[in-house]
Amino acid sequence: ALLKDYGADDKVLVSIRIRPTSNPIVWNINDKKIQLDSQAGKSPQEFNFDEILTGSENKPVYNAVARSHVCAAMDGYNSVIFAYGQTASGKTFTLTGDEDQPGIIPRAMKDIFSYIRRTPTREYLLRCSYLEIYNENIHDLLAPPSTSAAQPVQIHGIGPNVVLTPLREEVVTSLKGVREVLQRGEGNRRTASTDWNERSSRSHSVFRVVIESRERGERQDVEASSGRMTPGFRPPTPGGARLQARGGRTVQTSVLSLIDLAGSEKATSDKERTREGKYINTSLLTLGSVIGTLAENSSKGKTDHVPFRNSKLTRMLQPSLSGDARISVVCTINPGKDAVSESTSTLLFAQRIK
Ligand code: ADP
Ligand code: MG
Repeated sequence: ALLKDYGADDKVLVSIRIRPTSNPIVWNINDKKIQLDSQAGKSPQEFNFDEILTGSENKPVYNAVARSHVCAAMDGYNSVIFAYGQTASGKTFTLTGDEDQPGIIPRAMKDIFSYIRRTPTREYLLRCSYLEIYNENIHDLLAPPSTSAAQPVQIHGIGPNVVLTPLREEVVTSLKGVREVLQRGEGNRRTASTDWNERSSRSHSVFRVVIESRERGERQDVEASSGRMTPGFRPPTPGGARLQARGGRTVQTSVLSLIDLAGSEKATSDKERTREGKYINTSLLTLGSVIGTLAENSSKGKTDHVPFRNSKLTRMLQPSLSGDARISVVCTINPGKDAVSESTSTLLFAQRIK
């Protein structure tokens, strides 16, 4: 299928999500445009995006910013969905959500399992991994915290052949299995941090699903259903639906990555301006230039250098961002008077990658 079939011509879908606030709201929203209330004598910049979403419902957000990416992933395209924004603007609410309002991750997994049920002619293997990047170290959240601290995940290989080791991948066959994996990862993440709030706002968390499928053969003795563990992460090569002949039948592989980024706020104290702060700045800046360059290369048919290698996050994601991969970035914003400067900087980031 062509990517157009997934409802978008653009490589990168950039959306804004505005959380509710009890503070006075200082932004005017008009369909897909957003502008700061004009103050005496000033005419503030108007921003224009693919989607602007308000309110506390996660379903419309999923439908607008994630659904087509999940479908594309099921059809063999690598897809990445990011949540970007200052701390407390709603990144985790959007991606993870809660009991009442499940976020993008549980909705995506639900859609994936129903897609599999609706496609009896193919057999699927889903492998999940869950990791955190903190101070430019990659920690496997599915390994016990002591192990992952002593043995950070390494990035091997370059370009489209990047491999992460050691990284656990858990085969999942049901939503319940996914929930267990997520809970284990979340638990390990909390255990590993002395200050949970600090840690969660200063680290990127990456949940990914490798989706393998092939036409169902006459023999049903597929290694796929045996719950095997793979020692390393073997991302597919970019370009076209990823097909690989194995055991006589063609295997299609793609990766869906769902990423809760570190808080985008500026450092507010000297302590924060030290190590962590610098790393976060570099990796979010790099992400901005990587996505911005990819979008521009794609829309203008250019081949400008993409600085993947400037951060661990973009290095690790290179195979998932290159080629015909689909990218969705949800930028979350607190529209209150108290957050004007951070919201403006988030909108500038969003505009830059469009
Ligand atoms: P972040 O992950 O960006 O730091 P959170 O997702 O944790 O922010 O959101 C901070 C708080 O605001 C949480 O209590 C969350 O439930 C709430 N919240 C965020 N966005 C929304 C929203 N759109 N509707 C209702 N509550 C929200
Ligand atoms: Mg969060």
